[in-house]
Amino acid sequence: MTESFELVDTEDIDSPGDEWEEIDVTDTEADRIARRRDREFSEFRKRIKDADQFKVEASVFDDATFAALYKLVQDGYIDAFGGPISTGKEANVYSALGGTAAADVLDLEDNPEVAVKVYRINASDFRDMRGYLDGDPRFEGIGHDKKQIVQAWVRKEYANLERARKAGVRVPVPMAVERNVLVMELLGLDTGRAKRLSEVHVENPETAYEVIREYMRRLYDAGLVHGDLSEYNVILHGEELVVIDLGQAVTVHHPNSREFLERDCHNVAAFFRRQGLDVTDEELLAFVTDDTSD
Ligand code: ATP
Ligand code: MN
Repeated sequence: MTESFELVDTEDIDSPGDEWEEIDVTDTEADRIARRRDREFSEFRKRIKDADQFKVEASVFDDATFAALYKLVQDGYIDAFGGPISTGKEANVYSALGGTAAADVLDLEDNPEVAVKVYRINASDFRDMRGYLDGDPRFEGIGHDKKQIVQAWVRKEYANLERARKAGVRVPVPMAVERNVLVMELLGLDTGRAKRLSEVHVENPETAYEVIREYMRRLYDAGLVHGDLSEYNVILHGEELVVIDLGQAVTVHHPNSREFLERDCHNVAAFFRRQGLDVTDEELLAFVTDDTSD
């Protein structure tokens, strides 16, 4: 087989990860609302700012972020805000009561609680983001404008969650994305904040390992590499293990996808070695990448 033939072969349209979505970063409805700033929007802004739990956070939101939240309320994804769940480097996560559109997505009668991930346009570390963006075909043509980068990032997280879900990986169900805000299923049943795998006593590490490595394989078969997988980005939801934080996940075509996958395998295998399992990074990598064994 000649080299050029092989090249054509791997570029086959059917190979996973090729069917990337166009990521549109033109002005959102939220940007238009923020520019218009009608009275209703101003009142909404005031109402959120007045809400007790929201006081501190509200001061860090800019007009366009308020407008994005306003749009999500109007579209029925959010009904009322709860408190912050997590304050991260690039984004804050809040709990909220979902609206009817959120109930529809989950096929529920009652409005479910939702998680609202709000990326900060200004505080984001764009150097970190670029390493994941450059080389992802879905990001071709995205410029260096901060707003566009963050917006593309949030859309990528949504698309990654959707792709993972379709591939049979348990992730939070994505519901809506508006500018720098992502709404998804809230994890953690009844008792307070959802626990990370790192925070719980793992009673059956063999089973947990088998579930996670199967998730990794399904993700890889669907053309994605998580890129930040570890016990900190797996949540215990009742009896289920749920993979979160797919913003940085890249397609298998990304120039660094192999490096990211090897790092993911190392993190996961190392965690389970600490749980007493006899597993190696290499055998996990082989399991994840072996597409002949199903
Ligand atoms: P970090 O830098 O801490 O990893 P991040 O910006 O990458 O944060 P995530 O990892 O997606 O963001 O979320 C941060 C934390 O928020 C999670 O560790 C988890 O505790 C909580 N969280 C995120 N998504 C959800 C969700 N859908 N349901 C419940 N809690 C969530
Ligand atoms: Mn995380």
